Amino acid sequence: MAEATEKVHVLIIGSGPAGYTAAIYAARANMKPVLYQGIQPGGQLTITTEVENYPGYPEGIQGPEMMIHFEKQASRMGADIRYGLATKVDFTAQPYKVWIDEEKLIEADAIIIATGASAKWLGLESEQRLNGFGVSACAVCDGFFFRGKEVAIVGAGDTACEEAMYLSKLCTTVHMIVRRDQMRASKVMQDRVKNTPNIKIYWNSVTDEVLGDGKVSGVRIHNTATNEKVEVPISGFFVAIGHQPNSDIFKGWLDMDETGYIQTVPGTAKTNIEGVFACGDVQDKIYRQAVTAAGSGCMAALDAERYLSAKGLV
Ligand code: NDP
Repeated sequence: MAEATEKVHVLIIGSGPAGYTAAIYAARANMKPVLYQGIQPGGQLTITTEVENYPGYPEGIQGPEMMIHFEKQASRMGADIRYGLATKVDFTAQPYKVWIDEEKLIEADAIIIATGASAKWLGLESEQRLNGFGVSACAVCDGFFFRGKEVAIVGAGDTACEEAMYLSKLCTTVHMIVRRDQMRASKVMQDRVKNTPNIKIYWNSVTDEVLGDGKVSGVRIHNTATNEKVEVPISGFFVAIGHQPNSDIFKGWLDMDETGYIQTVPGTAKTNIEGVFACGDVQDKIYRQAVTAAGSGCMAALDAERYLSAKGLV
């Protein structure tokens, strides 16, 4: 099949706070950015509930609504926002090539990568088999289906605590499986979880198996300190053990750390390839906040503008 090729100045890949902020700045600087949203338009904030720490919203705001605001603002500034997933790149020479949905070829003078990060899974066969049939990595998306039922959640970070709290308001009991004898979450979140009567914490515990035939019916929990195993009847099994960067298609082109986070030159959005910039969670494993992602999206657009004007391309 013949490839449809399109030439653009600035291609932005990803539609979380980083991608949309880069689009707002790039559009205002007349760089005519084209943004591809990926498979989850709006990114991770579309699967969260209330955001209370993004400045400018004194009453807080729902994550999905905030991302609609970001998109509208980028659109109003003139960014060309499209649905589509970048599936392959070739950064051998300028203009750089990016394939969308394995067929459309975009050639771009500058590229801003804002592909974010995705949920990690435990890697159990039963978890994979029952995914979508009671197994989920997003309490906010799927908790509703388990109203009045018992569920389990794995993890002990801020996300797991936040999701356990969310589930505790919908479900009769939340069984929280924590692999060590302490939690990684901030103290305030830990305290909230510990003080919620219908959250039962299993310390030093790992998931042996998610049980169920066709849909989740239980979980076998293994206490590694006592070597005891218990089977708990549940209808929903939630995994909240962190995220991994969405950087696979850039492997071999861009410098990354051992876990796949793209490396940028400190204080900039520059990668090891001239004209290719990275922002947001795909290059940030430390802060991972909407506001820091947005800030780094701004940096990427400003770096791209400087790069293109030095080349005489804008
Ligand atoms: P984290 O990486 O902070 O925590 C992951 C948790 O999952 C850890 O408790 C870890 O255990 C556990 N874990 C990892 N792998 C496994 C496994 N295979 N089996 C069982 N447990 C496992 O990820 P989060 O998504 O919770 O948070 C990411 C970042 O976002 C953090 O910086 C967090 O503070 C921030 N955040 C902030 C929020 C807020 O401020 N409102 C809300 C949500 C997130 P262990 O501790 O033993 O390594």
